[in-house]
Formats: sequence, structure tokens, C-alpha cells
Amino acid sequence: MKVTIGHLYPDLLNLYGDRGNIQCLMKRCQWRGIEAETIAYEIDDKIDFSGLDIVLLGGGSDREQMLVCEKLKEIQKDFKAYVEDNGVVIAICGGYQLLGNYYKTDQGTIQGLELVDMYTEQEEGRLISNIVLKSDLFDMPVVGFENHGGRTYINNNKPLGKVLYGAGNDGKSGYEGVTYKNVIGTYLHGPLLPKNPQLADLLILRALRRKYGEQVELEPLEDKEEKEANSYICNRFVK
Ligand code: GLN
Repeated sequence: MKVTIGHLYPDLLNLYGDRGNIQCLMKRCQWRGIEAETIAYEIDDKIDFSGLDIVLLGGGSDREQMLVCEKLKEIQKDFKAYVEDNGVVIAICGGYQLLGNYYKTDQGTIQGLELVDMYTEQEEGRLISNIVLKSDLFDMPVVGFENHGGRTYINNNKPLGKVLYGAGNDGKSGYEGVTYKNVIGTYLHGPLLPKNPQLADLLILRALRRKYGEQVELEPLEDKEEKEANSYICNRFVK
């Protein structure tokens, strides 16, 4: 079995080391004897979504988001078809905001990909915090760090999780992230996947099942350090 990961525009959307998330996906495949390849696309590269099993859209500043916004219009149709065909996507922070209809900032409105019916508006102050979520998708809590000026409103979509500590999508609703088909969007950046191995494995499993069939199972990994890191953060912030 083989997983091909498409990393979209790491030259622009790589605010908090999203390459580490790619390495995590690659390693967790390789440890199980699953072949893994990553294709990093620069802004002028042509993307053939039919050859991809997981797409990662990373974090970026407002300025960088503005720069990729024009390009996104060109790939919107193909990206949308991939999502509707249950393609797996993980979109983080700036990339998460770009999944939606628009991101309105003081400097103007950035047109989104319209892959998920949601929108983001910049509001007073930034939401900067460690964050802990309880997601219905996993036994383990999801832990991370958030730093965003935009507030995301997910309309009728399901969130990734309920906020146990931190601000989340808009600092008010008590929820964080979004899930739509096989798309997951979240404000949790930096080492999201190394700290949350269950999330990394969900992406890999969904990608493999889409390609090879529902009977695919993932061999469990020990994850001793990963679980310790996760519970350390949890115990530190959730009382
Ligand atoms: N530019 C966006 C915001 O501030 C996202 C930043 C990020 O990717 N951390 O809301």
C-alpha cells in the first residue's frame, strides 16, 4: 500500500513548521511498512489531485494568505472535486481559514476555496493560547497551540471538538475546528500530528480506505512518548 501526500505551497504556508506534520505522517506509514511519498507544490506547479491521498494546507500570515488566494481560484474546481470524492484534507490555521467562503481582514477580504460552508472574520485582538479539545473522533484529547486574529464561523458543519481549554474557532462558541466529509480544519498548529497520533492515524486510515477499501486496518503503534506528551499538556491545562 502507498500513501501520497500533497503539501500545498510550503514556501508560503508553513508558518509554524507544518513540515513536521508531513514527517509525522510519513513516519507513521513507514513504521507500518506502508510506502509514503510527499509532493511539495510551489505556487506555479500544476496539481493533479487524482494522484493524491492526503492534502495538507498549512498556516500562513494574512499577507501570505493574500498571496495564495489568487492561485486558489485556479485550483478551486479540481480541489472541490477531490473533496467531494472523499479526498482527505488536513488544513491548519491560515489553511483552515482558506477552506471557507472568505476571510475578511482589515486589509481586505481574501476569497476562500469554498470547500466547506464556513467563513472567517478578523475581530479585535488575537486568540493566543495552549488549547485542549475533546473530539468525538478520538479517545485521547486533542492538544495544541492556537494563534489567530480571525474568528471562524462553521455554519451547520460539525466542529472537530469541544474546547476544554483555550479559545477555539471564535472564542465564544466553545468549539474548535471543522469536519466535513474527509476534510479536517483546525487552528491547532505547530506539531499538531506528532502530539496527536490518533489524528495522524485517522488521516492515514481514511486515505488508505478510500484507495484500497473499507477492510483496511492500521497496525497500532506503541506511541509511548506521544501519549506522555499529550497527557502532560492535558494535565497542565485542564483541571
Ligand atoms: N493569518 C491568520 C490569522 O491571524 C492565520 C494565522 C496562522 O496561520 N497562525 O487569523
